[in-house]
Amino acid sequence: MKQKFQYGNSLIDYDLSFQERKTLGIRVYPDKTVKVLAPLETPQEKVDEKIKLKAAWILKQQDFFCAFHPFTPERKYVSGETHLYLGKQYRLKLFVSENESVKLKGKYFEVGTKDKTNKDAIEKQMKAWYKQKANTRFNELFDKLKPLAKKFYEGTPTLKYRWMSKRWGSCDKDGTIHLNLELIKAPKKCIEYVIIHELCHLKYLNHSTKFFQLLEKELPNWRETKDQLEKFLV
Ligand SMILES: [Zn+2]
Repeated sequence: MKQKFQYGNSLIDYDLSFQERKTLGIRVYPDKTVKVLAPLETPQEKVDEKIKLKAAWILKQQDFFCAFHPFTPERKYVSGETHLYLGKQYRLKLFVSENESVKLKGKYFEVGTKDKTNKDAIEKQMKAWYKQKANTRFNELFDKLKPLAKKFYEGTPTLKYRWMSKRWGSCDKDGTIHLNLELIKAPKKCIEYVIIHELCHLKYLNHSTKFFQLLEKELPNWRETKDQLEKFLV
């Protein structure tokens, strides 16, 4: 029996069935479906009550399977502050210069800038630097990994990237894979994970059980890497 439950701004769709059992059970599947198993004759209010109690948990489970929320900590762009590149931390070292520059030297990001207090300008310089690095790194990794899609996709996947606020990556029907430029801050294996995840979407444009079976086959330790990616930027 298809049911709905409104919880704050979220609508939880679930499938309710009655069984010979003592307690009410809730299951969340990788394709985001929710199944509720209730003892025979359970009144609807009792079911609602339990779902309300478990709603936050249900939404979190659904989120685990499909969301990529990059954590973007507020940066002040002052000397001494930590910035990331390919999973490593570097300290920002600002110096005044007529020629704007960004260089990685030892454990530092050395940034030459006209005005050390102009946060927006420094941020723009840093972003341009990251984008330039991503241009090389993302393409290298993508070229290395895209042959694995040959087994299940006939076209030629192409790569694009931009700054995104809600996702690590996405995949279009026409075979274009988009990566979030934020990924250039994460360890290489996390970038690889997102590329493989998106390549698997060329076969299944959803998070169904079949999608996860394919992902598991192509990258058996994906959960570990996904965890690492999500904890990483926090
Ligand atoms: Zn996905």
